[in-house]
Parts: sequence; C-alpha cells; structure tokens
Amino acid sequence: MGFIDRTARSFLLLEMLQGMALSFKYMFKPRVTINYPMEKGPLSPRFRGEHALRRYPNGEERCIACKLCEAICPALAITIEAEPREDNSRRTSRYDIDMTKCIYCGLCQEACPVDAIVEGPNFEFSAETREELLYNKDKLLANGDRWEPELAARIELDAPYR
Ligand code: SF4
Ligand code: SF4
Repeated sequence: MGFIDRTARSFLLLEMLQGMALSFKYMFKPRVTINYPMEKGPLSPRFRGEHALRRYPNGEERCIACKLCEAICPALAITIEAEPREDNSRRTSRYDIDMTKCIYCGLCQEACPVDAIVEGPNFEFSAETREELLYNKDKLLANGDRWEPELAARIELDAPYR
C-alpha cells in the first residue's frame, strides 16, 4: 500500500468505519455467546466430567469390587480395597480417586461391568487445594446420589452405541 493510500485511509478513518459497520451488522444477529454461569451450553451424553459411584434403586451399591477400573486406569488414579460382607457379598471398603492424576479418558467407566463408576455431566468441581481433589468412596457415592437422574439418562441415551 502506497504512502498516499495509507494517509488517505488514516484521514478518512476508513478502518474505524469498517469496524463500526461490522459491529453494527452483528448487533442484529443471534448471540453466539452465553451468559455463563447463569446459562450453560449443551453437553453430549458422552461428556466425561466428575466421577460418581452409582447405587441400585434399592440403595445398594452397584460396585462389586472387581477392580477392573483400577487395573485399566492408565493414570493409576484409582485405589480400591475390598472385603467380603457378613452376607458374603463382595464390596469395597475403600474406593479412592486422585482427581489430580485423572486424565478423564473414561476407561474406568468402559471397564465397569455394572455401570457403577461413571463420569457424569458435572464440570464445575474446581478446588483451591489438592486435598479437595482426593476423592474417597463417600464423596463418590454422594456424587452418584446427587446426579443419578442425569447419569441414568446419559447411560440410556448411549446404550444403543455400546
Ligand atoms: S477417567 Fe481414566 S484416568 Fe481417570 S480414573 Fe478413569 S480410567 Fe483413570
Ligand atoms: S467400579 Fe465397576 S469396575 Fe470398578 S471395582 Fe467396582 S464394579 Fe469393578
């Protein structure tokens, strides 16, 4: 661009006018942004968010302590200890996930034969300390209780593709 051309553009404020015209054009188009956190965008049923341990409708834990999730976890984020109950059913006595190690690959959920450990739709679980991200069984079961309707709906939607 020549000197005269550049000078003319500066004096006529052409670039500013072009910018204002673009802003004016978009004033009448639908917004592409959302007012987060008051508004939230759609999430896929396969979105891999915060983990939860689910229960059966009668309140019994689904997890049978088979340890497949622990074995498959590439980040070694899951720690399980198990012991038989009085009725000889096998359940975990400890189920920890170190969320600071987790890479949200979803393999634990894929491996679970009883849909016990799942990754839910919650992505708002940031914390200020590392300790808050060391989840134990109580925390995971509480997540399951809190999100069960959403978790069940997501599993049902994804069922035809599993
Ligand atoms: S999502 Fe992947 S990394 Fe995270 S706990 Fe499950 S298997 Fe491990
Ligand atoms: S969460 Fe599922 S895969 Fe992991 S120990 Fe329990 S039953 Fe097995």
